[in-house]
Amino acid sequence: MQSQNALLEQDRQHVWHPYSAIQADTPIYPVKSAQGVRITLMDGRVLIDGMSSWWSAIHGYNHPVLNQAISTQLHDMAHIMFGGLTHQPAVDLALQLVKITPEPLQTVFFADSGSVAIEVAMKMAIQYWYAKNQSQKAKLLTIRHGYHGDTFGAMSVSDPVNGMHSLFANTLIKQLFAAAPNCTFTQPCTPEDIAPLENQLKENHAQIAAIILEPIVQGAGGMRFYSPEYLQQVRELCTQYDVLLIVDEIATGFGRTGKLFACEHAEIAPDILCLGKALTGGYMTLAATLATQEIADTIRLGEPGLFMHGPTFMANPLACATALASLKLLLNSPWQQTVRTIEQTLATGLQACAHYAHVKDVRVLGAIGVIELHHPVDLKTLQPKFVDAGVWVRPFNKLIYLMPPFIISSTELNQLIDAVLKVVADIEP
Ligand SMILES: *Cc1c(COP(=O)(O)O)cnc(C)c1O
Repeated sequence: MQSQNALLEQDRQHVWHPYSAIQADTPIYPVKSAQGVRITLMDGRVLIDGMSSWWSAIHGYNHPVLNQAISTQLHDMAHIMFGGLTHQPAVDLALQLVKITPEPLQTVFFADSGSVAIEVAMKMAIQYWYAKNQSQKAKLLTIRHGYHGDTFGAMSVSDPVNGMHSLFANTLIKQLFAAAPNCTFTQPCTPEDIAPLENQLKENHAQIAAIILEPIVQGAGGMRFYSPEYLQQVRELCTQYDVLLIVDEIATGFGRTGKLFACEHAEIAPDILCLGKALTGGYMTLAATLATQEIADTIRLGEPGLFMHGPTFMANPLACATALASLKLLLNSPWQQTVRTIEQTLATGLQACAHYAHVKDVRVLGAIGVIELHHPVDLKTLQPKFVDAGVWVRPFNKLIYLMPPFIISSTELNQLIDAVLKVVADIEP
């Protein structure tokens, strides 16, 4: 194997990383392997994972059951085009997703990433109204502080400030925005919380195809948790104003918030649902957009009679087989109890830093723990401190957050929390 320094230098010169620059001066760590909740760096250091590779590796790394699912599928085929052909892993996974999601969702479109699942959802909503001869209903309405991905459609409905809409102002589709609710998860939704969205609907519903939002937890746009009552009222308003509801569960899906899907906190069903991230347990890139029978029928019976989207790697068999195995692992485990235990440990543990002058808020929901600071962190100095403390935590802006794999033991979780507390205590106010 190449020396670590040579690898790092070539990476620095030629390889882009997420939200980074070529020849950036923020540290990058070469990984040799990962096993369970432990990431082994090339220099031999071992880190406890607090990120689940951005919400996805819920069962940890190198899981024997997921490894077996991939290698079994590999013997039949790694990939086959989905135009005019189908296969068992895709059909089985679609049926399973229909079964575990809210009842009105009956159809599944497989996409290659979360962002693409969002593009598909937006196009479905627009095609639905087009098929009903209401092509003027083509705008999306959303709330601020959202994040739906990095492609142009997804970006157009993500937070204008966090998403740097100014940079792409001449290209980006102009969508409609309402202030996000201020009610926390446990608070009631007040008339002030819902009024901005309701006013937008009142004024513009004739142009609106759908509302799109993340249910209960707004992720990359600020790690904000809001009240299930708000989501219930959004659902009622969508029905009242004849607007579709697209729920983005790409981050929240598969147990992370304590329910299998976060919209279950509000006991509502969307018209369109987007899934991704933990769908394959973090093994392969795969996402899905589910829609109601009514949407599917309307698109089929209207012009042009087809849904106009079809990725080359749609329903990749390796990814579908892995997703099926991951879902089975999850559903056959006591995941509710597991997530509740993680929630209690995070809530008790992280509370210790709530009184620091530089800490604005500490909040926990399900297996998500958030420490919000008053000021943005300096990633360049903070990242090495987490690594030196033996944990993998990737803060952004004012947020230090934890979303460990569900398989983390209580000893490991306490080690992770202790390391984070130590680093947070050291941050200059
Ligand atoms: C990560 C994320 C996306 C985008 O998914 P990618 O796979 O990165 O394209 C969309 N919505 C939410 C809520 C996400 O967290």
